[in-house]
Amino acid sequence: MPENNSYQPETLAVRAGSVHSQFHEHSEALFLTSSFTFDSAEQAAKRFIGEEPGNIYSRFTNPTVSMFEERLAALEGAEQCVATASGMSAILSACMGLLKAGDHIVASQSLFGSTVNLFNNVLKKFGVDTTFVSATDVAQWQAAVRPETRLFFLETPSNPLTEISDIPAIAAVARKCGALLAVDNCFCTPILQQPLELGADIVIHSATKYLDGQGRVLGGAVLGSKKNMEGVYGFLRTAGPTMSAFNAWVFLKGMETLKLRMDAHSANALQLARWLEQQPNVARVFYPGLPSHPQHALAMRQQKTGGGVVSFEVKGGKEVAWRVIDNARLLSITANLGDTKSTLTHPASTTHARISPEARAAAGISDGLLRIAVGLEAVVDIQADLAHGL
Ligand SMILES: *Cc1c(COP(=O)(O)O)cnc(C)c1O
Repeated sequence: MPENNSYQPETLAVRAGSVHSQFHEHSEALFLTSSFTFDSAEQAAKRFIGEEPGNIYSRFTNPTVSMFEERLAALEGAEQCVATASGMSAILSACMGLLKAGDHIVASQSLFGSTVNLFNNVLKKFGVDTTFVSATDVAQWQAAVRPETRLFFLETPSNPLTEISDIPAIAAVARKCGALLAVDNCFCTPILQQPLELGADIVIHSATKYLDGQGRVLGGAVLGSKKNMEGVYGFLRTAGPTMSAFNAWVFLKGMETLKLRMDAHSANALQLARWLEQQPNVARVFYPGLPSHPQHALAMRQQKTGGGVVSFEVKGGKEVAWRVIDNARLLSITANLGDTKSTLTHPASTTHARISPEARAAAGISDGLLRIAVGLEAVVDIQADLAHGL
């Protein structure tokens, strides 16, 4: 692709990062090779000490993975992207690269379950403490800061209640106290939200979700300035939770339709959310694209659309919620999201089952809550499927 920073996202999604080999293939090639050869002993020596750029070994760099990294970096407007084996290894690698024993994290309490586990049970063993605060109350972020605070971590919209964190406001607090702000941008993707532009320092992705978009492979990424990525890449190169070339190739192809898919997921989700609001058995709908969402205005400022995830609370608690799930013939009963196929989850008994009923209630996750990651089926078919149980 010619150097041009003004290309639109749909153009970058299709063309950014493409590198062609001596065979002039049109579609990006899959380089399934663990290592690379050198022309001479001298060239090998120069590559190993970094005097000459080039591939050495696929744990360090791989051409297909590099194409994925370039494409995602272009979409997020980041100086550098490092690809990882999964979303969780992206979060681990970011923390290992940016933090040391004694450092402190301030994190949103509305985070992906494994992220909470990673902070509480893994990083804590290595002397990194985390304080969890409200996703939406900026004053709590400020109040939780300690002299040793180095990282703020959030995800917006949150799962499953679609709470919106104010990225510019929280970034301002982070900057004032010398901490970096990392945003897990999995739900929006760069098509709907660009955290770096809004003031964040680091972007995290579970590429497993919308970047693939078709539920096939796991992967992740960390993005930011070259300076901030240095330690993250160093950790990955040494410790090894890197992205496989095969998965990078799947993501490259998936990303080519990212703009089309995010627009379609969003349009379907909005239409479904409006319909759910009209259903007599539905007590409440959580979707940032609805004017009834408490942070609708903020969501519309920092996101292009409300995204593809809708949650709703049925009247009648767990019994009715499970009835809706068990009567669905089309929707998939699975906790995954970001797929062309719509998925239906009961958070209280699955993704949030391990936390105490009191903590669940405090987090607003009631027994009647259902989450739909809206896919690309016709909305009338999704509605009909939900209507069986409602
Ligand atoms: C799925 C998910 C992750 C973890 O990603 P994996 O690819 O499953 O490791 C992290 N954050 C969010 C918001 C997710 O939805």
